[in-house]
Amino acid sequence: MSKQQLSGFGSTAIHAGHQPDPNNAHLTPIYASSTFTFDSAEQGMLRFEGKEPGYIYTRWGNPNFTEAEEKICALEGFGIADKDGDRIQLKALLHASGQAAMTTMFLANLKAGDKVLSHFSLYGGTHELLHRVLPPMGIETLLHRLDNADELEQLLKNDPNIRWIHLETPANPTLQCVDIEMICTVAQRFQVKVSVDNTFATPYLQQPFKMGADYVFHSTTKYLNGHGTAIGGVLVGKDIQAMNTTVLKWYRLLGGNANPFDAYLLINGIKTLELRMDRHCSNAMAVAEFLDKHPAIAKVNYTGLAHHPDHALASRQMRHPGPMLSFELKDGLEGGMKFINQLSFCTKAVSLGTTDTLVSHPASMTHYGVPRELRIASGITDGLIRMSVGIENIEDILNDIANALQ
Ligand SMILES: *Cc1c(COP(=O)(O)O)cnc(C)c1O
Repeated sequence: MSKQQLSGFGSTAIHAGHQPDPNNAHLTPIYASSTFTFDSAEQGMLRFEGKEPGYIYTRWGNPNFTEAEEKICALEGFGIADKDGDRIQLKALLHASGQAAMTTMFLANLKAGDKVLSHFSLYGGTHELLHRVLPPMGIETLLHRLDNADELEQLLKNDPNIRWIHLETPANPTLQCVDIEMICTVAQRFQVKVSVDNTFATPYLQQPFKMGADYVFHSTTKYLNGHGTAIGGVLVGKDIQAMNTTVLKWYRLLGGNANPFDAYLLINGIKTLELRMDRHCSNAMAVAEFLDKHPAIAKVNYTGLAHHPDHALASRQMRHPGPMLSFELKDGLEGGMKFINQLSFCTKAVSLGTTDTLVSHPASMTHYGVPRELRIASGITDGLIRMSVGIENIEDILNDIANALQ
C-alpha cells in the first residue's frame, strides 16, 4: 500500500520527516552516537563522496536532525508550489541555537565589503551579531524603516554593496511588521537575498517562502519546540545547490550543530504546533481585547487590534495576529514592576513560546542595561510589559491579570 498524501498542516506536522525504525520503535529513538560505522573502506569512500546515503559523524548529520529538518521543511513549504507547479524544494539545517543558525547563514553567504540591510526593533541577539560580530569581518549593517518600496529601491540602487536584507516580522516587543512580499519583490530586481526570522509567527501563521524569501530562520527554542525544553535553531533555504555546498560546509566547519536529544524534543513538540498555536492565538486575542478596555492601560501593542499601525499588513500576510503582545501601564517603571510582582498565576520569565503564559518587564529585565533614551527610542517604555500568552484556560489568565491591575 502506498503512503497517502498528507493534506492538512496538522497531519504534516505529525507525520512528515518520520522514517520507520528498523526495530519498529514507534518514535524515532535518540541516536546518541557521535559516529557511524562503515561495512568496508569502499562504503566509507562512497559516503564521503556523497554517492551513498548514510551518516558519518554527528557534527555532519544525525537521524534525529534529519527528521526535525524534514518536518520543518514540509511545514515552511506547506502548500507552496514552484513555477512548474511542484512542491517547493527546501533544505534545512538544525543548529544548537537560533544564534548558531543565524551565524551560519551570515558567514556562509557574506564576505568582507558586503552590507546587510535591516530594520529597527530586531531581537537583541540579532542586533548584536550584526553590530558587534560582523563589522570586524568587514560586513556592515544599515538599519532603515523598510516600509516604502521606492525608498528601498533607492537604497539598493545607491549602494550596490547591500547584498542581504534581514527581516524579523512581527518584531519584538512592539509587534511591528514589515511587508515581506514588497521587500522581496524589490530585492529580487537587485539580486539581493532576503532572510526572514519567522520565530514569532511559525510556519502555521506565516510562510515567508510564499512571499519570495530566500532563507527562513527560527529559534526553535520558542513555538516550534513549544514546551521550553531545549535551545535550538534552524536555517531553511530554497537554493538547494547553495544549501548543499557552501552553507552545508560552513555549518559543518562552524560546528553549531544541534544534538540528538534536543532534536528529539523538538520533533515531538512540533507535532502539536497547530493545536497549540490555535489556542495561543485565541487566548492572546482575548487578553488584548481585555487590556485594551482596561483603565490602567495606556496602550496595547497587538496587530489583531484595529488601531495597531500594522493591523492591515499583519492580516494580509499572517493567518492570525499571533500569540505575543505587549502593553504599557500608565504608571511607568514603578507600575510595571508592581504589576509583575502582583501576578500569581502567570510565570515571570523572559523567552516565549512555552505552554504557560510568560510575562516580562523589559525595562527592569532584558533591557535593564540599555541606556533609557535608547530603550525608549526603540519603543521599550518604562511601563512596557511583554506577554507570551500561553495555552492555559483563558479565565485563569484573565483573572490573574485583572487582580494584578487592581
Ligand atoms: C530567541 C530568539 C532568537 C535567538 O534564538 P536562540 O535560540 O535563543 O539562540 C532569535 N530571534 C528571535 C525572534 C527570538 O525570539
